[in-house]
Amino acid sequence: MKNICLILPVLFFSCRQIEIKINNTDNMEKYIPAAVINETVKELEAKFPLADRELIRRGVTLTGDFWIAGDGSPEEFKTFCISNYSQDKKTLSDRFAKNMETVFGHFSQVGREMQFPIHVENGDLIPIDEIFASWSPFAHVNDDWFGNKLAMILHLNFPYYSLDERNAKGLQWTEDENAAVNLGLYFASRTPGKLQQQAEEIATRAELYISNYNIYMNNIVDEQGKRYFPEDMRLISHWGLRDELKSNYNDRTETGLTKQKLIYDLMIRIINQEIPRELINVKGNDYCPTNSKFFRDGSETTFEREKDVRYAFLLELFKSAKASDKYSPLYPDAIKRAFDQSLEMTFEEVETMFTAFLSAPVNEKIGELIGRRLRRPLQAYDIWYDGFKTRSSISEEDLSAKTLKQFPDAKALEKQLPHILQLLGYGKERAEKICQYIAVDAARGSGHAMGAAMKSDISRLRVRVPETGLNYNGFNVAMHEFGHNVEQTVSLYDVGNYLNSGIPNTAFTEALAFLFQKRDLDVLGFRENNPDKARMAILDNYWNAFEIMGVALVDMYAWKWMYANPDAKPEELKTAIINIAKDVWNKYYASIFDVADSPILAVYSHMISYPLYLAAYPIGHLIEFQLEQHLEGKNFAEEIDRIFRIGHCSPNVWMTKATGAKLSVEPFIKAATDVINDINTQIDD
Ligand SMILES: [Zn+2]
Repeated sequence: MKNICLILPVLFFSCRQIEIKINNTDNMEKYIPAAVINETVKELEAKFPLADRELIRRGVTLTGDFWIAGDGSPEEFKTFCISNYSQDKKTLSDRFAKNMETVFGHFSQVGREMQFPIHVENGDLIPIDEIFASWSPFAHVNDDWFGNKLAMILHLNFPYYSLDERNAKGLQWTEDENAAVNLGLYFASRTPGKLQQQAEEIATRAELYISNYNIYMNNIVDEQGKRYFPEDMRLISHWGLRDELKSNYNDRTETGLTKQKLIYDLMIRIINQEIPRELINVKGNDYCPTNSKFFRDGSETTFEREKDVRYAFLLELFKSAKASDKYSPLYPDAIKRAFDQSLEMTFEEVETMFTAFLSAPVNEKIGELIGRRLRRPLQAYDIWYDGFKTRSSISEEDLSAKTLKQFPDAKALEKQLPHILQLLGYGKERAEKICQYIAVDAARGSGHAMGAAMKSDISRLRVRVPETGLNYNGFNVAMHEFGHNVEQTVSLYDVGNYLNSGIPNTAFTEALAFLFQKRDLDVLGFRENNPDKARMAILDNYWNAFEIMGVALVDMYAWKWMYANPDAKPEELKTAIINIAKDVWNKYYASIFDVADSPILAVYSHMISYPLYLAAYPIGHLIEFQLEQHLEGKNFAEEIDRIFRIGHCSPNVWMTKATGAKLSVEPFIKAATDVINDINTQIDD
C-alpha cells in the first residue's frame, strides 16, 4: 500500500467512514430534556408492547442527541417519535436501501463523469473541467436528509450498535439483521457546513504544504562539500527521500552508504525543523544536513530554519477536527472517528496488536540477519532495508515485450479482462459476468479504480497506457486496480442487500487488490524458478510491517497527546512528537539496531496530509498475510469469489467469515519465525 490508489466509489456512501456535512446546526447542546426522552420511550412501549424495549430506548435517545432547536420543540420531538416509530422494520429498511442506492448510485455516476476529463487521457483540458470536477453532487444530501428528518427516522428505527456488539453478535446476524445494523451506521454526525468547510480548507492547505515539500538533491552536500546526487533529482519528503535511500542498498560501496546517511540526516533536520527554509522546494542553495551548514553562492552563511510549520499544520488539523466533536455524539473525538468509526477497530485493539508484533522475539533475529547480509552494524534507517526482495528470474524486458504486444491500448486490456480472470482460475461464464461491469480507461495520472454504487452501473479501471502500449510496470499496476474492480463488482452485485454491499474499510480493499497484483506473472504465463522467493517475501512483508507499525504508533500517540494538551503551541507539539517517536523507538527498535533515541519514526508526511490514517497500512499487511495463508492450497478463484461476497460487517466478523479466525498478528509472527529458524539452521549446517 504505497499510495492511496483507490478513489472511493461514492464519497457519501462511505459516510459510514467519513464525516458528513450539515448546515444550521450551530448549537448541538442537549436540547431534548431527559424527562421528554423518558416520556417518549414510555408512550412507545405502551403503543408497541411487543417491541424490544432496549431498542426503543436507544433509538429515541439517539434521535434526541441529534435533535436541535430548529427541528421543533420537545413536544414536537415526542410527537415525531411516536408517529414515525415503525414495527415493520423490514419494509422501512428495504425502502431506505432502494432509495439510497438510487441516490448514491446516480450521484456517484454523476461525480465520476464530472471528473472524467481530469482522470482520463482524452483530449485537452479546458478551464471549466476543474470546476466541474471539484463540484460534488453529494455536498447537500446530508443537510437535506437531516433537514427533512429522514436521518432522524433512520436513527429512531435503526439504533446504533457499538463495535463490541457488532463483533460479538455479527456472526449470528441474518442478512436482514446485518443490513439494519449497517443502516444505523449512516448519518453519524451533524457537523455544521461551515465547520466542515473550514476543515476541508485546512486539510487542502496541509496537503499542499506536503506536496510542495521537495528537496533538490544536487544541493545536498557532505561535510567536505561533495555532491552525490544527480542534477535533476527532486525528491518529495518523505516518500521520495525514503525510496532513494532504499535504492542505495544496491550500491554496496562507500558512496551508497554516504548517500543513505545524508538522506537520514536530512530527515532528522526535517523532523526537528532545523532545515533551512530556503532549501524547501528551492533550487540553488547548498546544505550539509550532517553539520547543518548552509551555503549561498558557494559561501557559508546563516539561515532561517523552517520554524515548526510542520507542527503548526498538525495543530490546525487537530483543532478543526476537535471542533466537530460535539456534533458527533456517537464518536465524540477524532481518534474515535478514525478508529471506531472508519477502521471499525478500537484504538486500544490496534495498539495491542501493534505492540505485540513489535515485541516479538523474531524481530531481533531478523535484525541480526540484516546485519549479516549488510556486513556492517545496523543503522536506524535500516528500518527501510529492502534486500529481502528477490530479483525476478525473468528480465523486465522480457515481461514488457509480452505486455506491450498483448495490451497495445486500454481497450485491448478491457477485452482481455475475462481471459485474465480465467487464467486466475475463474470459469468462463463467471469471468464474463463479472467483467461486463468493468471498463478500462487510459489514466491521465496515476492508476486508480472507481467502483460503482448501484447495480446497473460499472466500475472503471484506470491505468496509464503510453502510446507504445502497456509496459510490465503498467500491467502490474493494472492487476492491482483490477483486483479493486473485481472486489467492487462482486461486493455490490453479489451481495443480496444493498446495505450490506462493500467490505469493511480501505485496509481491506488494498489487501485484496494486492492478492491480484502479486499474481501478475501467473497471468503472463511466466513461472518463477527461484525457490527462495516465497520465504524472502515473508521476511520482506514482515520487515515492512515492523517499520510502519512504529510509524503508526507515533501518529496515534501524537493525537492522544494533542487531546490531553489542546492548547499546545507548535514548538511544544514538536517536542512532544519527537519524545513520542524516541519512546517508541527506544521501546521496540533501539536494542535491535543498537541505536538509541532516533526520532526517525516521526518523518512520515501522512501525519500532516492524511492524519490518523497510518494505522491502516500495517493492518492491510496483516490482512493480506492472513488471507494468503488461508488461500494456500485452495482454489484461488473459488475462494476469493466467496470472500468478496461477504459484504460489509465489522473487520473481525469479516475476517472470521473469510478465514475462520479474526485478525491477529500471531500467524505472521509464526511464519517469520519459521523462515528465520530455517535460514539459521542452514547456516549452522
Ligand atoms: Zn489500491
